[in-house]
This record gives sequence, structure tokens and C-alpha cells, in this order.
Amino acid sequence: MNQAILNADLHCHSVISDGTLTPEALAARAKANGVTLWSLTDHDEVGGQARAIAAAKAEGLSYLTGTEISVTFAGQTVHIVGLGFDHENAALQQGLHNTRNGRGARAQEMSDGLAKVGIRGAYEGALKYAGNPELISRTHFARFLVESGVCQDTHEVFRNYLTEGNPGFVPHRWANLKDCLQWITQAGGMAVIAHPARYNFTANEEYALFTEFKAHGGQGVEVVTGSHTPAEYVQYADMAKEFNLLASRGSDFHSPDESRIDLGTLPYLPGQLTPVWELLADRIQ
Ligand code: AMP
Ligand code: MN
Ligand code: MN
Ligand code: MN
Repeated sequence: MNQAILNADLHCHSVISDGTLTPEALAARAKANGVTLWSLTDHDEVGGQARAIAAAKAEGLSYLTGTEISVTFAGQTVHIVGLGFDHENAALQQGLHNTRNGRGARAQEMSDGLAKVGIRGAYEGALKYAGNPELISRTHFARFLVESGVCQDTHEVFRNYLTEGNPGFVPHRWANLKDCLQWITQAGGMAVIAHPARYNFTANEEYALFTEFKAHGGQGVEVVTGSHTPAEYVQYADMAKEFNLLASRGSDFHSPDESRIDLGTLPYLPGQLTPVWELLADRIQ
């Protein structure tokens, strides 16, 4: 059987980070959409893994543990997905805890920036949307700004308020790449570069990211993701081959109201690639 032809969705978010559905509702939605191998990859957090494992089992879905870690590389935020690790590993949990640590203060500063352009109470407003206050993120601010009528939708909020050069943007230092890869690999998992086309790197910086990622034990790259265009599937399939990386597939689903791509609805991986799940077969539960 061609292992690439599998409805695997190895990237999505629940209320434990910045999604709007519970792990149980995501498992049911994945099942209804024909997903057979699923992973919940909340940002910088594994607190939803026990629920996701139980929900996957109840739905008859195969499951890989997951998380999406925020890293600062060459002055930009890069996301690294970890798959198939022991979610009770103490060093991984401590690393994620430290990564979450600065979010509260950053959110206060974001709120101060928004207050300067007349938007009051954004911190409290965003917090209402955060199922997990330690994970207060730009997404929660975006929901508050839509609710309060400042913008029509969350994309408009990001464009006008929450990205570099705009009043609610606060630069932040996340984990470093080497530490992040160590947390994942020492917990028995595989590290995967998330949505590589989303970064604004020069060709040299991107080459450095892929090279350092490999040097520190990274093994995979997302090729088919909700963040990529079909042309980018081809571009990063080539990168996967050039760097001898395994390929992953995931919708990056956050919410039925906000996400363009639903769980399990992306095209399959290009057939000439080796899927991450081939090497993770013994971690699937
Ligand atoms: P943070 O970790 O607080 O910087 O928030 C990052 C999250 O914001 C990402 O995981 C996405 O869910 C969301 N996000 C980032 N950029 C955009 C965008 N342009 N439009 C919509 N959501 C975005
Ligand atoms: Mn997110
Ligand atoms: Mn991401
Ligand atoms: Mn994501």
C-alpha cells in the first residue's frame, strides 16, 4: 500500500490553546471527515493530550501525540511541530512551561498598544476567549476585536492590528531551535517544521533553518498544510527531497468559523515522499 494515501491530519488546535473546539469535538469532527490518523497539536502545551488520546480511542481513530512549539530563529517566529513523544516527559513539559511564561506580560503590552489607538479593555476581552490563560495569544485578541466590532474578521485584525508595524504587535522571544528539538527528541518524538512557506525568510535564512533543524535532529517538514498553496506543496516537496526530510500533512484547523480548511480535507501527500507516519508507526496509539 502507498503510505502517502492516508487521510492523516497531524496539525490542529483545541481550546487548550487557540482553537474553539474541545479535544472531544475535534476527534468527532476528524472522524466525520474521514480522518484515520489524527494529532492534536496545541501551541506550547501538552495539557490536552490525555483527553485527545481518550477521544481518539472512543472514535476509533489512530492517534499520535502532538504539540506546536514557538521558536525564535533569525529574528522571526518559526513553529516546530512535535509528534509521537511521551506527553508526560518532565523535560518537555518544563520547556513548554518556560515557553508559555512570557505570554501574560506580552498580552498586557499588546493591550497597552491597542489602548493607544482607542481600543480599551483588550487584555480582559482577549482573556475571556482563552480557555487556557497561560496560552493567551494573538488569536484571542483577534476574536475580541471582531466581537467588539473593530474589524469584520480575524484576518482583518491581524492585517491591521497584530502584525509587525501595527499597534497591537509586541515582538517576543520564544524558545531556541536547539532546545525545542531536544525537548521533542528526548521525549521520544519527531520534530517537523510547520508551514515553511509562512515565514518571510530570504533563501539563505531558509537554507540555514533547514540545515540547523537537521543538525539538531529534526526529521520532518509539513508539505501539505492549510497554510500552503498547491504551488507551495510542490516547492516544499522538493525541499523535503533535497534535505532528505519526511513529509507531513495537517490542516492547522482552529475553528469552524475561522478556518478555511477543515480537518481531513486537504489533498494527499505527493506519492514520491516518505510520510512522517511511516517512521512513527510504533508510536501510533
Ligand atoms: P501568537 O502565538 O500569540 O503569536 O499567535 C499566533 C497565532 O495567531 C497563530 O498560531 C495563528 O493561529 C494566528 N495567526 C497568525 N497570523 C495570522 C493571520 N494572518 N490571520 C489569522 N490568524 C493568524
Ligand atoms: Mn494558532
Ligand atoms: Mn503555526
Ligand atoms: Mn498551528
